[in-house]
Amino acid sequence: MTRLTHLDIPFFDDLHREQAAALDAWCAEHLQHVDHTDTDAACRRLVTMLGEGGHLRWCVPAAHGGALPALDSRALVVARETLARHDGLADFAFAMQGLGTGAITLAGSPQVQAEVLPRVARGEWISAFALSEPQAGSDVAAMSCTVRDEGDHWVLNGEKTWISNGGIADVFTVFARTLNGEGQPVGGPGSKPTASISGFAVRADTPGLEIAERIQVIAPHPLARLRFVNCLIPKDSLLGAPGEGFKLAMRTLDIFRASVAAAALGFARRALDEAIAHAKARHMFGQTLADFQLTQAAIGEMASAVDAASLLTYRAAWLRDVKAVRTTREAAMAKMTATENAQRVIDRALQMHGGLGVKVGSTVESLYREIRALRIYEGATEVQQLIVGRDVLGA
Ligand SMILES: Cc1cc2nc3c(=O)[nH]c(=O)nc-3n(C[C@H](O)[C@H](O)[C@H](O)COP(=O)(O)OP(=O)(O)OC[C@H]3O[C@@H](n4cnc5c(N)ncnc54)[C@H](O)[C@@H]3O)c2cc1C
Repeated sequence: MTRLTHLDIPFFDDLHREQAAALDAWCAEHLQHVDHTDTDAACRRLVTMLGEGGHLRWCVPAAHGGALPALDSRALVVARETLARHDGLADFAFAMQGLGTGAITLAGSPQVQAEVLPRVARGEWISAFALSEPQAGSDVAAMSCTVRDEGDHWVLNGEKTWISNGGIADVFTVFARTLNGEGQPVGGPGSKPTASISGFAVRADTPGLEIAERIQVIAPHPLARLRFVNCLIPKDSLLGAPGEGFKLAMRTLDIFRASVAAAALGFARRALDEAIAHAKARHMFGQTLADFQLTQAAIGEMASAVDAASLLTYRAAWLRDVKAVRTTREAAMAKMTATENAQRVIDRALQMHGGLGVKVGSTVESLYREIRALRIYEGATEVQQLIVGRDVLGA
């Protein structure tokens, strides 16, 4: 058994196994030395390092400097699982380069793709995904940010919040309600609220784009509330056709939800590694912690929770890559199960560490904070339950 034996299953090709081995070795060599004191600086540094190491090429297609002809879900899964096992912020830095440009890859104009994607793949630009608003989180259709067609350009107004990389990003994928020249939502009167949402690539240096608030969270990441005040954005920044933004956002999330599951898996694997090492080393009552049957049962449950989550995650990625089918249900199952299981595994690992588990700076303490947001963002667990439940009932 090696650290990567779990990838020796038919869901993966040798390409993925080689990718994981190379990235795992790269992480061991490079990530120790990154100073995390200043989160923004650390994140910028990690993006530069990942770009120089060639690891961001999995985030864009080959035509724009990527590794493979199209986004490969298994490569994203392998990258995030491996990075998260080493360092949550490194995983975050990688993930946002993919999530922030996913809709540009899927539907950007040739000009926007050529401007953004190669720079993101080289780690020269940082990207972000701006969907959530103060009054529109789980309920995306309630969004009130608007973009108005003013002939030779668009005008963007409103707010977005919880935007990862807000404050350090060079380019944002922004979703907004689209109004025609008369100020009416595109999609026509009586259409569904989602029928007027469109996606846009918006440069961070656009006049009128402000960082309204920097947000601190329990596992530090660059995060902000954005404000758009009469931002003029070029016509070709529209992603796809007007009114296609909601579907585009959901297609992007279908790809990246499986990768959130993979990040949770990376955290859970690390917690399991830490729990096993600690249980074998800690002496009490004349034996080691690992000698107690209660500990063996806990480790057995943790290892099974990790494997169950990994199989759902790998299946979602494999189905999208190999069977080329829509994987909304499978990605939701994977995200929900992997994040919830990881939370339980990490909590058990922390408990086994006793007082050391809650000591600030210990690995399990930071994993305990890192995992929490994954059960909320890109659709909270309850939202995933509904996606799966409705799909199962519909089928
Ligand atoms: C660290 C972090 C990073 C983020 N990064 C980004 C980003 O980069 N870009 C972006 O656009 N957004 C981002 N988000 C926002 C994230 O996607 C939202 O927080 C999430 O969608 C939930 O929205 P909300 O916070 O408004 O909670 P609400 O929508 O108010 O939901 C609150 C809670 O209600 C419950 N709930 C939701 N729906 C239902 C239901 N139907 N039935 C019963 N219960 C329900 C869930 O438990 C949920 O957590 C980020 C959030 C965090 C915490």
